[in-house]
Amino acid sequence: MLKLKPNCECCDADLAPDEAGAFICSFECTYCAICAEGPLGGVCPNCGGGLVARPARPSGLLAKFPASAERVRRQTPCPTTA
Ligand SMILES: [Zn+2]
Ligand SMILES: [Zn+2]
Repeated sequence: MLKLKPNCECCDADLAPDEAGAFICSFECTYCAICAEGPLGGVCPNCGGGLVARPARPSGLLAKFPASAERVRRQTPCPTTA
């Protein structure tokens, strides 16, 4: 099951678990669309893997299968230019 992290690791933007617009790698490093499609160029800066659109979890299931509340930020800044 996906953790559905609540924020972008680069810019700390909020990412709702029940909405599209988040991107993840195979380790579920999580980014907003602006970072993933912009400076990151669709590649995770942590592991070098590709980023794909994160599926949204229907909001009615979040009470039983809650999203992660742990905010994760990268230790080092992300690239800011493509
Ligand atoms: Zn971002
Ligand atoms: Zn990664």
